Formats: sequence, structure tokens, C-alpha cells
Amino acid sequence: MTLRKHAPLQPLDEALEKLLGFASPLQQVEEIDTMHADGRVLAQDVVSELHVPPHDNSAMDGYAVRCADVPHSGVQLPVSQRLAAGVAAKALESGSAARIFTGGVVPPGADAVVMQEECAALSDGAAQDARVQINAVPQAGQHIRRAGEDVTRNQVVLAAGTRLGPAEIGLAASIGLDRLHVLRRPRVALFSTGDELVMPGTVAPRDMRPGAIYNSNRYFLSALLRRLGCEVTDYGIVPDLRDATIEALRSASLAHDAILTSGGVSVGEEDHIKPAVQALGTLDLWQIAIKPGKPFAYGSIGACHFLGLPGNPVSSFVTFLLLVRPFLLRLQGARDVVMRSIAARADFAWPKPDRRREFLRVRRNANGGLDLFANQSSGVLTSAVWADGLLDNPPGCAIAPGDTVRFVAFAELLS
Ligand code: AMP
Ligand code: MG
Repeated sequence: MTLRKHAPLQPLDEALEKLLGFASPLQQVEEIDTMHADGRVLAQDVVSELHVPPHDNSAMDGYAVRCADVPHSGVQLPVSQRLAAGVAAKALESGSAARIFTGGVVPPGADAVVMQEECAALSDGAAQDARVQINAVPQAGQHIRRAGEDVTRNQVVLAAGTRLGPAEIGLAASIGLDRLHVLRRPRVALFSTGDELVMPGTVAPRDMRPGAIYNSNRYFLSALLRRLGCEVTDYGIVPDLRDATIEALRSASLAHDAILTSGGVSVGEEDHIKPAVQALGTLDLWQIAIKPGKPFAYGSIGACHFLGLPGNPVSSFVTFLLLVRPFLLRLQGARDVVMRSIAARADFAWPKPDRRREFLRVRRNANGGLDLFANQSSGVLTSAVWADGLLDNPPGCAIAPGDTVRFVAFAELLS
């Protein structure tokens, strides 16, 4: 492959489609505890064997009645049974009421629950709560939660390819599943490149040599990978030697599903990762029409994917979210991998847009609008800390205050 200095820029959507085309889902399936399934992706549909709730039950503390027995307010009825949650109900004798509590099974024959605030319990000689006066006229069906209103028997409640979160795990438990089948976690090797890089902890800030910077990408990329459920092997900074780089990549490729690197993918740069990947497998360098984050590399070494991110921290962060995240989710079998944006109002001006599609670091304000971080440079990581999302701005699109723009929340991209 020859690298052209002025290769045409690829639109992000095209690059993503191409990249996802390489992400065949991992084949191995694991059965794991539902309790520990947060973040994992279902390998098969989850089907319910029962209705949820299993029986009609009361939404209130009160009395279950037949509406026909309460044609007007003030009717008095004997209390024929007491139904706490979990107690089996007998059919409701006509002309009587059943004391019932939230979650209690509605007795056959009853067609409404009157909440206790609209009833007066009457004692009948020695027997407490033997009769009740109903001080309201019930509507048929009121305060009854119907059997199957959440889930019906044989319903697919979670489809294969669903990424499980707390709500999904709760739903699986509600149909009695303590084990789930998920795809295995991707194994990812993480490398940093760059002779200027220093690992935090190895040199104190006051002792840093001129031109040296700390390796920040390693930290956030590792965190991003773990949040996506990956098992990460951290190779730190690859020594700046051709043979050492080839050897590190070769051995990583044997035991990992993907290798992720940062730095050294700009066109024309002298570095060892590119020739090393080319020596071992194939490398395709893409120039993507986004800002930040133009350079991006995809390749493969045997069965191992290679993903190369730019070195600038914000470029690295953003390209990870836009390209690597969907790739790694798809590798785990996830169906929905494309980010969702929502309409939002810009409360700032952006008069000089780039010709590339921009992802501006912005933050929602209390008035429902978006504020812009003042410094949008791709080296300024404080922008990503300050922001709570990205404004997805089309190529060449100037923004005036009050304009409707597209916003992608970090909450969506970082989970
Ligand atoms: P590169 O993509 O290698 O040309 O790097 C672009 C810029 O990002 C340079 O200023 C690098 O010093 C910086 N950079 C590269 N890798 C890292 C890293 N791991 N952590 C922090 N900054 C980096
Ligand atoms: Mg570099």
C-alpha cells in the first residue's frame, strides 16, 4: 500500500460502515450469572416462560370488590378474606369485599380495588375490620394491575444482540433467569507510541526533560476499553525500535482479538507501528473527514484486528468514541452500535466552521441550551472533562446563537 499525502478524506459514515464490515462478531458464547451480566451482549433471544405479573394484582392498599355490589357511595360489605402480597386468593363471594394490599392477588370475581383512603373499616362487635364502608363508586378495573401487562408468556423480552444494562438484567430476573448466554469479552492489546511520552509515576513533573509529555492516552483508552467490557493487556509504550515493535505486535496478535494503538498514524510520519503492521499483515490508512481526529488506521495481523488512533488526546478520545467503540461493540455481537444524537439549541456562535464534520466539546446549560468550551484544540483534554457531550456539526456549517444543532451525550458514548 502506498500512502498518499493528499488522499481524499472519507466521510465518517462511510468509514464506519467499512469498519463495521470487518467486525464479525466473536463466536464463543459464555453462560454467566445474570447478576454479573451488566455490559455484556446477549448471544440469544431471551423468552419468557410466564406472564409478568403472573396474576391480576392490586396497585393499592384497599378493598377488592365487585362493582355491581357498590352502585352508590356508602355501601357496607362484610370483609370475607384478607389478601397480603403472596397470599393465594379464593373467589370473592358476591356481596362481600376482600381486604387487599399492594401486590396482593385480586380474587376471581372482583373487578375493582377501592383504595383504603376511600373506605372506612368498621368493627363488628369483637371482630376488628369485619365490615367495610365503601365511600366511593368504583370504576371496573380500577387499581388492578393485569396479569401479563409487563411480559406475556412466550414473549421475546430481550433480543439477541442486546447490550445488557441494569434494566435489562432486572427484566431477565423478573422472568426467573439467573443465567444468561452472552458473547465472550474481546481481548484487546493497548500500545502507545511516541518517543516524547513518559509514563506517569516514572518521572516527577519537575524532572521532565524538555519536550517530554506524560502518556495520558494510555489511561483514558484503557478506561474506555474496560467500560466496553474488553479484557485489556497494557503494553505501555512500545520501544522505538523496528524489531521490538514487530515482535510486540506479533506476539500480541496471537493472543488478542484486537490491537489498539495511539499516535504515529499521521501521513508521512516516521514511526515503527505502520511498517511493523505492514510487515506482519495488512494496513489501510484512512483519512477521515472529521475534526478532531483525521488520521485513523485499520488493518489486521492474522486473525487479530489492528486499530490505530491519532496521538492528540482529544482526537484519540473522539475517534475512539466514533469508530472504535462501535467496532468493539459489534465484535461482541451488539446490534445497536451507532451513536444517537438529539436536537439541541446552541447558545453560542461558531462563525468559522471547518470543511470537515466537527465534533465540538459542549455542555448542556440550565436553560436547555448548549455552551461551547472556549478552546477546541485537539490537544486540550480539559475540554473533554468540562464537556458533557459532542456537538455533531456538518461540514462548513456556521452556528449562530439559537440555532438547532445535533448533540450526542457522553452518557450515551461512555457507557
Ligand atoms: P502523533 O499522532 O503521534 O503525531 O501525535 C500527535 C500529538 O499527540 C503529539 O503532540 C504527541 O505528543 C501527542 N501524543 C501522542 N501520543 C500521546 C499519548 N499517548 N498521550 C498524550 N499525548 C500523546
Ligand atoms: Mg507520535
